[in-house]
Amino acid sequence: MTLRRTGPGRPRTALHDPAREETAYAPAPAVELRGVRREYGRGPATVHALRDIDLTLPRGTFTAVTGPAGSGKSTLLRCAAGLDRPTAGSVRLGGTEITGMAENELAELRRGRLGFVFQAFNLLPSLTVEQNVLRPMRLAGLPEDRGRAARLLAQVGLDGAGGRRPAELSGGGQQRAALARALATRPDVIFADEPTGALDTTAAAGVLALLRAAVDSLGVSLVMVTRDPVAASHADEVVLLSEGRTTARPPRGIPAAAA
Ligand code: ADP
Ligand code: MG
Repeated sequence: MTLRRTGPGRPRTALHDPAREETAYAPAPAVELRGVRREYGRGPATVHALRDIDLTLPRGTFTAVTGPAGSGKSTLLRCAAGLDRPTAGSVRLGGTEITGMAENELAELRRGRLGFVFQAFNLLPSLTVEQNVLRPMRLAGLPEDRGRAARLLAQVGLDGAGGRRPAELSGGGQQRAALARALATRPDVIFADEPTGALDTTAAAGVLALLRAAVDSLGVSLVMVTRDPVAASHADEVVLLSEGRTTARPPRGIPAAAA
């Protein structure tokens, strides 16, 4: 369903292998999962959160991961973003194999190349909104660029709100601040887990429009977990999860165009 291109993973020896030529100049996909499994526990009580996931997410695209509660959406996102380690299989981010990376290397990759948006916003309450946006720059070893922070806040509709505390903003405002924070380091990929799950319809629509704009105008790749079909409809691709597996076809009732 999302397998649009052949990955660069398999070694080929023939010099003029057309498949190799085709991928030689193509940028590596934003995210690639091969045979990813994630199990919790052991023995008869083992939970198979992900079973053999193969997924290729091209750069500059917006992918929604959807499915019922407990289907493995958050586990998929966490494994893809280097926040959790698969039990088996391989994860590549922009062509970089992250399986087996040391924790400090992974943390550096996350800080430098990824952005995160969570359902509960996860802004630091004691910092101002501006300080929340500046923080990832510092953590990534970049200069704290106050001009960039101001521009990002203006882009998400928070012009002039940089000096406020997160709690002084509405839920939608906090999530828009979290998006500005996620964009601060110019990440390649943004991972968002239920970013509209705590928002009312109007606030959710605002956040979804901004997520879509980040993909369309900044070229960011976006992976968004959501249980909301309206949110999923903003994506270029919809990955349906069921009991830890991707399902190749949309269930009855969802038009093929939506998947
Ligand atoms: P979703 O995000 O789709 O609701 P999750 O990825 O959170 O699903 O969970 C998938 C399955 O893995 C569920 O059965 C859940 O109970 C289980 N699970 C998730 N995290 C853990 C964990 N840390 N320990 C044990 N089981 C877990
Ligand atoms: Mg979840």
